[in-house]
Order: sequence, then structure tokens, then C-alpha cells
Amino acid sequence: MQPFVFEHADSAATAVRIAAAAGGPSATQSQTQYLAGGTTLVDLMKLDVMQPVTVVDINGLDDAVFTRIESTAAGLRLGALVRMADAAENANIRRDCPVIAQSLKLAASQQIRNMASLGGNVLQRTRCTYFRDVSYAACNKRNPGSGCTAMTGFNRDHAVLGTSDHCIATYPGDFAQALIALDATVDTIGPNGARSIPFASLHRPPGDTPAIETVLRPGEMIASFRVALEPWMRRSLFLKIRDRESYEFAIASAAVALKLDDGKVAEARIALGGVATLPWRARAAEDALRDQEVDDRSIDAAAQAAFADARTQSHNGFKVELGKRTLARAVRAAAAMNV
Ligand code: FAD
Ligand code: SF4
Repeated sequence: MQPFVFEHADSAATAVRIAAAAGGPSATQSQTQYLAGGTTLVDLMKLDVMQPVTVVDINGLDDAVFTRIESTAAGLRLGALVRMADAAENANIRRDCPVIAQSLKLAASQQIRNMASLGGNVLQRTRCTYFRDVSYAACNKRNPGSGCTAMTGFNRDHAVLGTSDHCIATYPGDFAQALIALDATVDTIGPNGARSIPFASLHRPPGDTPAIETVLRPGEMIASFRVALEPWMRRSLFLKIRDRESYEFAIASAAVALKLDDGKVAEARIALGGVATLPWRARAAEDALRDQEVDDRSIDAAAQAAFADARTQSHNGFKVELGKRTLARAVRAAAAMNV
């Protein structure tokens, strides 16, 4: 691990001031990184994948927006420093939008969920082996312009949706799928003040700059996530398929929320994980279900639509069929919920 300066911030303004002074081309490549739970950042620093000059501990921030779960008639506000375990076990969240609670509960292990924050979770970086192992020189995400070892290497875990000729790494998180499905908003505080961003715009597709993963600027912090809840979102769930049930990242997942009206789908929200380079809203699948009865025909049409643009590599072709089946199972299960 490279030596670094360690600072504690007791207010968001202090944290942002420290980070803004350091600069860097993007939030992920900023010279300053925030330390929340540290469950990803410290790993990547030990591996020399991330080498920040300064690490700012944000666990002592005095602003309650960062640390509270607020559930009101207007919806849900989740502070960025709320621990995954606390949100997963919150009774209101479990009742009003089970997809959020389940996406968190099925992520990582209990010990990690106790430490890890919601803000850190959405900003976690890919588990691509070649990204995390600096002995592989070619990785456009870690070392822009160097190439991509995964394209000719072992790419079973890699993405089939949203890929580019420069990177095929899978976005690894689960919570983000629930947020994108429910049209969440991200509130940030940065060197230029506060702003709100639709969650769907937070992550960037890899394109030809895979090292720039979000629209966050250097020093910009996530303060909270907001979801405008509607009663029908109680009919929602998260289905995660993984190689090991005890704890593991998804090889395919689906976050689904359905509004049923007279046996037909009035509104469908579907997001897919484990198969795409960023949190993935399956809008074509939603369109295929809208105004239809939930039956084999409409579900099959939704699954086909979701993967119509899939682009496979040598070892990950199975993800297209697995992804379709995951989506289909999740939609059937959501339709059958007794809410
Ligand atoms: P940190 O490590 O503290 O920070 C991560 C990044 O986010 C850093 O770049 C940091 O600068 C930045 N950051 C943190 N907070 C903010 C903020 N408020 N504003 C701006 N930037 C910020 N995740 C899943 O979703 N599903 C899984 O199945 C899963 N399995 C796991 C298994 C293992 C063994 C491990 C180690 C992790 C796993 N994870 C999984 C990932 C885990 O959920 C993340 O490590 C965790 O959520 C990161 O949160 P943190 O608070 O520890 O982030
Ligand atoms: Fe790097 Fe992306 Fe290629 Fe993995 S898939 S080696 S992260 S460029």
C-alpha cells in the first residue's frame, strides 16, 4: 500500500474543501477518497489498484442528512452513511419497498453489511479480476489506454449489456438495481454546492473512458438517496442468482416492482444486475409488460426484449439465458405477491 495522508472531517463542508483542493480527473480517480465503511476502498488500496494521496474519514460528519433513514408521506430518504444492515432491517423499508431491503440483505455478508455504507455501496468498483490484479498491465479502467485483458482472457463474470470495445466489466452492486428501478434521486454536496441527480444518470457506461464511472466530480459527496414511494411499490422484490448462496456477487439479478390493475400491468419497473456494465434499467422489458396480463407470453416477450442487444464474449454467453430466466422468475414472483 502506498503512504497517504489521513484526515477526519466533522462536516461535509470540511470534507469537500479537503477533497476539492486535491483535484483529479473524476471522482474515482480523485487524489482524495472518502472513507465510509472502508470495505472496498481499503481492499483496493492494499492491492495498489487505488492510490489516493489523501483519505478523508467521513464517519464523524455532524449532518443528520448523511446518517438518518427518514420515512414520510413524501417517501424515503436514506443517508449515504446509513449502514447497509440498518436499511436492510428497517421495518418501514421492508414493508413499503421490499425490493430495497432485499437488495441490501442479499448483498455481501452480515459483517460487511454492518460496516458498509449505502453511499460506498453504490460507488463500489468492478470485481473484474484483471482490474483488481495490477500484475495485468492491460486494463483500460485502471490504466486508461492500456487495453483490456478480459476481452481475450477468462470473461465468464463479465457483462453482456452496456459493454464497449474498451471495457466489459460488470457493475457488481445490488442496491443500485433497486434504486434505479424505483426512479431514485441522489443528493450531493460538492465544491460547487449541492445538487440532485436522477440515480439513473449517476453511473456512466464505459464507452471509451471506462475509468470515469460516474458523473460525480472530484470531491463531490453523496449525501442521501430519495425515493418517492407509492403504495403499489409494496409489490416489489429482488431476485439474486449467485454461485454460492452464503454470500457472493450476482451473476444475474432482477429488481422488479409491479402495479397491477384489474389483472393487467399498469406499471412495471425492472432493473437487471450481474449482466451489465452499470445499474441497468430494462425499459424495453417494462414496455413489453405494460397493459398486458402477466402470463407466459408477456413474460417471454419482456425477457426477449431485455436481452435483444446483448453482446457476449467467449465465456459469458450463458448469461443471456440466465438473465432472461431471472427476469421471468422475478416478474412471476412479484405478480404472485399477496399485498
Ligand atoms: P468505502 O470502501 O468506504 O468507499 C467506497 C468508495 O466510495 C470509495 O471510493 C469512497 O471514496 C467512496 N465513497 C464512500 N462514501 C461516499 C460518499 N458518501 N460520497 C462520495 N463518495 C463516497 N456488494 C453488493 O452490492 N453485493 C454483494 O454481494 C457484495 N459482496 C461483497 C463481498 C465481499 C467479500 C466484499 C468485501 C464486499 C462485497 N460487496 C458486495 C461490496 C460491499 O457492499 C461494498 O464494499 C460496500 O458497500 C462499500 O461501502 P463502504 O461504506 O465500505 O465504502
Ligand atoms: Fe479492465 Fe474493464 Fe477490461 Fe476488466 S473488463 S480488464 S476492468 S478494461
